[in-house]
Amino acid sequence: MNVNKIIFNGTSQFKVVSVDSDMDSFTIYVLGKGKISFCPNCEQVSSKVHSYYTRKFADLPTFGKCSKIILRAHKFYCSTLECPLKVFTERYQDHFKPYQRRTDRLNIKLLNIVLESGGKSAERICNQLSIPVCDTTLLRLIEKAELPSNEDIIALGVDDWAIKKRERYGSILVDLVTNRPIGLLGDREEDTLCSWLQKRDSLQIISRDRYINFKNASTKGAPQAIQVTDRWHLLKNLGEAMRKILDREYSTLKKVREANSKTKMAEPRVLKSMIPSAQQEKFKEVKLLLEQGVSIQDIARRFKMSRTVPSYDTQGPKQ
Ligand SMILES: [Zn+2]
Repeated sequence: MNVNKIIFNGTSQFKVVSVDSDMDSFTIYVLGKGKISFCPNCEQVSSKVHSYYTRKFADLPTFGKCSKIILRAHKFYCSTLECPLKVFTERYQDHFKPYQRRTDRLNIKLLNIVLESGGKSAERICNQLSIPVCDTTLLRLIEKAELPSNEDIIALGVDDWAIKKRERYGSILVDLVTNRPIGLLGDREEDTLCSWLQKRDSLQIISRDRYINFKNASTKGAPQAIQVTDRWHLLKNLGEAMRKILDREYSTLKKVREANSKTKMAEPRVLKSMIPSAQQEKFKEVKLLLEQGVSIQDIARRFKMSRTVPSYDTQGPKQ
């Protein structure tokens, strides 16, 4: 079994040296196999090894236990004379980012969990999954996460959002095709939104409320776009208009209601089920004869019925 393939999906940059296990965790010892690396400052390649160092990463849990990876990595000399970075640490394409203490795949999972469930809930879920992490760390992942690209947006929704309710507001920008927020502006000023819009020539539709700064910014920043009112504000305005009409016409409506209450009540309808059926009539006659002391045999003979008929006495006829 190829352990490298299982742990690193066949990436040839790393070699698994050994795996240790105790009661609560797995420890995977890994060696970086890279012979060269690129200087992060001048981006020149270097193969001159300076030294080795050890990095420790939390990884996805294995069989319900915590997993960590101990990576032995290189430090390289930078051979560019002008570069101030004389020695730099090895960079990897996958799995391990500089200054990180978690593997990429673990960070991706944690980000998805916290986006779905929020900080405290995500913390509890992660602890159940043998990933010890606190909510502030999880929320920091959201802060660092890259927002989706919005350079080629077609339909934009803009509205205000409360940085601090009733005190400070910004602007929220939503991609109406994907229904996802794509940006937050720190205020509701015309110039701020205008400069954001001017960088997006692909914009065709802007949905906004009647706030004057949004209107002016949309007109100046994206003159090619059609401005529309969003459904929520349309319904809100319709509701307010209806309320005004009803308030104004209250006395008239009251008169109509009073006039209606005086009109003749409709005749009660007689339901078909209320008309006694022939079966019910027969039941009553049988019951009366029984009370008069007529024998069951005589009653059965008279009505050409089975002698089990007296069971009506308690059950009544079936409808
Ligand atoms: Zn360099």
